[in-house]
Amino acid sequence: MLNQITEFVNLWYLWFVVSDCAVCSKQFGPFPHVMRYTTQFLLSALAAAQFPALDAPEIAFLGRSNVGKSSLLNKLVGEKAAKVSQTPGRTRAINFFALLDASRKRKLVFADLPGYGYAKISKSISATWPAFIEPYLAIRSTLKLCVCLVDSNVPAQQSDRQLIDWLRAAGREFAVVATKIDRLSGNERTRNLLALKQGLELDELLPVSAKTGYGIKELWALIEAAGGND
Ligand code: GDP
Repeated sequence: MLNQITEFVNLWYLWFVVSDCAVCSKQFGPFPHVMRYTTQFLLSALAAAQFPALDAPEIAFLGRSNVGKSSLLNKLVGEKAAKVSQTPGRTRAINFFALLDASRKRKLVFADLPGYGYAKISKSISATWPAFIEPYLAIRSTLKLCVCLVDSNVPAQQSDRQLIDWLRAAGREFAVVATKIDRLSGNERTRNLLALKQGLELDELLPVSAKTGYGIKELWALIEAAGGND
């Protein structure tokens, strides 16, 4: 009898882990470890003088307009961040959020950078971005990781390539994520990811979906590792 109970408990636990805490996720968010953080909007900066104090590891999110940045932030930290970042007037600013994990006494800062343009091939990313964004990327000493978003449904774009080349030249840590992966299936997925890796000269490309949660756990792992958390 005891064996049967133990087996039942083990099976139940296995289901709980494998299903990524499906019951919890309905109530609290996509993954249990996300619940550790509470998100607080800090400020919108339109000039370097407005950047918040350097007091925590910072993660920046970059991508072309419509790449799915708000949706991904929403999935990572909750609706507040996405709403703030899409508020008219704040779409040209760098929006900063503090993520607090009181139980582990840890803090991260997320910096949501303005989406850059669709089509125009500019000489430099800074030509389409406010002048303070390039300095932000160049000198922000607490910036630990740039999460660059590219659309998995769209071929490698010159503007994405420019940004990634710029980050490489600046010696910045970056991770490229391919968004909206749920829209692709089978061969298309493999083909597009390979083409993006080649077009952007990447060793790694993390496919994600804000819609299904695919890849979110892996992205959190990258963020926490960059932020010095385990
Ligand atoms: P942003 O301009 O980069 O902030 O992009 P949004 O987050 O506003 O997304 C742009 C469009 O793509 C919206 O219509 C979203 O619903 C859609 N979208 C974003 N992420 C996903 C995703 O993971 N899967 C699918 N199918 N659509 C997505």
